[in-house]
Amino acid sequence: MMRIDILSLFPGYFQGPFDVSIVKRAQKNGLIQIRQLDIRDFSESRHRKVDDRPFGGGPGMVMCPQPAVSAIRSVKDNAAHVVYLSPQGAKLNAAKCKELAQKEHLILLCGHYEGIDERILALEVDEEISIGDYVLTNGCVAAIVLVDAVIRFIPGVIGHPDAVEQDSFQQGGFDGPHFTRPEVFEGMEVPQVLRQGHHAEIEKWRRAEAKKKTERVRPELVKGEVREP
Ligand code: SAM
Repeated sequence: MMRIDILSLFPGYFQGPFDVSIVKRAQKNGLIQIRQLDIRDFSESRHRKVDDRPFGGGPGMVMCPQPAVSAIRSVKDNAAHVVYLSPQGAKLNAAKCKELAQKEHLILLCGHYEGIDERILALEVDEEISIGDYVLTNGCVAAIVLVDAVIRFIPGVIGHPDAVEQDSFQQGGFDGPHFTRPEVFEGMEVPQVLRQGHHAEIEKWRRAEAKKKTERVRPELVKGEVREP
């Protein structure tokens, strides 16, 4: 079972997303255990302070090192891999998700304010991961994205094992198009090839469609400029 500890200032953020659907079932089935810790509970200051003004001046507040470091150390063990969700990290992709899915214990640190004191990174963080080139108000949404994308690679989490392998990025490009009933919707028909039951033809058609869309939308994936899993 993979253990995931999420350290943030807003544990309430996770109640909705982790209490539904596949993430909920994975917890119920004992494939993952997710715990939320409130960094403020670890503050040794009188008013449970967790942030302060930046040395050198500048806007906003910075997360103080003591509460975050104490929170990490309270759950850290030999198997732990500590990730700081940060716009300055390497960009999350399917290959990284697959790699993280092998870990026994993930500790996810969510920042807030202008960011966190650099010494937290030096002392306790193994890697920084970004979910994209934009800045969020805090790391909680990024942690939800990472957990959701990582656990899909844990065997048993997704009911049909082939489903994950056929998803976008597993073969470099996108997954093929999907259709379901009815055969005609608002005058648009499901492609004939999908209704004839010829599996080799269906596979060929899906691959061709997937390639066409990948070339159109993300040509760098087709050229192999971005190495996905
Ligand atoms: N001043 C920081 C900078 O420009 O690099 C941004 C701080 S941001 C307002 C506050 C927190 O949100 C960060 O500490 C981080 O945990 C989280 N965060 C923001 N953007 C993110 C992203 N793209 N991926 C992951 N985490 C992000």
